[in-house]
Amino acid sequence: MTLPASSPYIVVGAGIHGLSTGYHLAQELRSRGLGSGADVIVLDKTGPGAGASGIACGVVRNNYYQPAMSELMQACVEVWESDPIAYHYNPVGYIALGAAVQEPDLVATYERQERIGYRSELIVGETEVDAHMKRLFSDWRAKGVTVCLHEQQGGFAFNVESVLGLAGKCEAEGVTVHSGVEVTGFELGSDDAVTAVLTSHGQIELGEQLVIAPGPWARDFWAMLGLPERIDVRTPSGDVVRDRPMWTYWNLQEGEITVDPRSFATNDDGAPPVIHLDTDAPLVTDDGERVTDELWGVYFKRDRHGVQGGASPLVVDGEVELDPYPSTTDVDPSFPDLWCAALSHAMSRFEGCRAFYKDARSGGVGAFTADNFPVFDYMKPNAYCILDSNHGYKMIGVGREVARVLVGEHSSLLQPFRFERFTTGDLHPVSHSPYPWS
Ligand SMILES: Cc1cc2nc3c(=O)[nH]c(=O)nc-3n(C[C@H](O)[C@H](O)[C@H](O)COP(=O)(O)OP(=O)(O)OC[C@H]3O[C@@H](n4cnc5c(N)ncnc54)[C@H](O)[C@@H]3O)c2cc1C
Repeated sequence: MTLPASSPYIVVGAGIHGLSTGYHLAQELRSRGLGSGADVIVLDKTGPGAGASGIACGVVRNNYYQPAMSELMQACVEVWESDPIAYHYNPVGYIALGAAVQEPDLVATYERQERIGYRSELIVGETEVDAHMKRLFSDWRAKGVTVCLHEQQGGFAFNVESVLGLAGKCEAEGVTVHSGVEVTGFELGSDDAVTAVLTSHGQIELGEQLVIAPGPWARDFWAMLGLPERIDVRTPSGDVVRDRPMWTYWNLQEGEITVDPRSFATNDDGAPPVIHLDTDAPLVTDDGERVTDELWGVYFKRDRHGVQGGASPLVVDGEVELDPYPSTTDVDPSFPDLWCAALSHAMSRFEGCRAFYKDARSGGVGAFTADNFPVFDYMKPNAYCILDSNHGYKMIGVGREVARVLVGEHSSLLQPFRFERFTTGDLHPVSHSPYPWS
C-alpha cells in the first residue's frame, strides 16, 4: 500500500459520514474551481461499511421531537431521494405509533413537519389509529395505541449497499479510499492545528483540513485529540451537572425472522412502511407468557430475506470492546421473545413467528455523547468531527453540510450541534420516548 506523503483534505472513516463528506467535498471543490476529488483521501482501518453503517437497520425517518434534528433530517432525506438507486433507498415511508404519554411529542413533531414541508399525516385516538392501520394491514391488532404519525417520506436503505454506492460516487469524483490504514494519532502544531495524520502505513502531512467520522470509535479519537473524558454539562435551566462521561455505549438489540418477505405487505400488496410501535398494553408471547406490563417498543421493516428490526437498546456497563466490530455485549437473552411477541401483538400474520427467529449475531454497539445528540464541530482549528451519537445512518446529508463548511460556508443545520452547547446550556429538548435517540 502506498499512501501519499501529503494530502490537502484527509477524511478518517469510510462509513456513511466519511464517504458522504468525501463525495460532497469533491463536488464542492470542483464546482467552485477550488480543486477536485484528487485533493481528498479517505482512510479506513478496515474498509467501507466496516463500522456501524454496515450493520445499521437502515431506517430513514424524520420523527424527531427536537426541531434541529427534524430540520437536519429533512435535508438528509433530500439526499437519499436524490439517487435512490445508487443509495439502495426504499422510499416506503415510516409510521410511528405511540401510547397516550407520547401524544404531545408526536403532535408537536407533526406540526413542525407541516411547517417545514415534510410530508406526513397525524392520526389521534385509539379507534382512528386502529382504522388507519387496518386500511394498510387488515390483520392489525395492536392495543394501547392512541397516536400515529405516518411519514410519507423516509423508509429504509440497504446498509452495506448504500455505503458502497457512496464509495462509488467518491471514486467517480476522483477521491481515493484507502482501506486497511489505521489512524494511530495526530501531530499538532503550536496553534493546536493538526499538521500530520499518523497511520499504520506512515505519516501523511495535512495540507488543509481533517475530517474525523469514526462512528463507535468516537471515544478513541476523542482521546487522540487530547479532549476530556468527562465534561460539565449546563442544562437549559442553568444548573450545571458536573463530571458527566463524554461517551457512553449502548448495545442495539436487533433481530430477524426468516419468512417470505412478501408475507409482510400492505392490503394492496404494496411494500410496507417501516413501523415503530410503542405501547403500554401488556405484552404476552403466543404461548401466553407475560413479557412485560410496562411501556415497550419495537421497530420492524421488510428485509430481503424476512422481517428485521429491534427494540430498546441496553447500556453497556464498564469497558466496551469495539474490535473486531461489531461486538455485541450484554444482549438480553429474552430479546427474541419480546420482539417476536411484539410482532404478533401488532399483526396476526406474525403469530408463531418466534419459530422463525434467525439465530445469528445481530445488532451492535453505538457511542453516545453526554446528551445523546450529535456533536458536529471543529474540535481543533482544522479538524472537523462528525460524532453522530448513533443517530446517523439516516444522516447521509451531514456530509453535504460539512463539505460546505469546509469550503467556508456557514451551515445553520449543523450549528445547533456544536460542542459549545454543553457550556452554554443550549441543549436539545428531551422527548417522552424510551429510546436514547428520539
Ligand atoms: C445495530 C445498529 C443499528 C442501527 N440502525 C440505525 C438505523 O436504522 N438508522 C439510523 O439512522 N442509524 C442507525 N444506527 C446508527 C448508525 O449506524 C451510525 O450512527 C452511523 O452508521 C455512524 O456512521 P459513521 O460513518 O460515523 O461511522 P461508521 O459507519 O462506524 O464508520 C466509521 C469507520 O471508521 C473506521 N475506523 C475506526 N477507527 C479507525 C482508525 N483508528 N483508523 C482508521 N479508520 C478507523 C471504521 O473501520 C469504520 O469503517 C444503527 C447503529 C447500530 C449499531
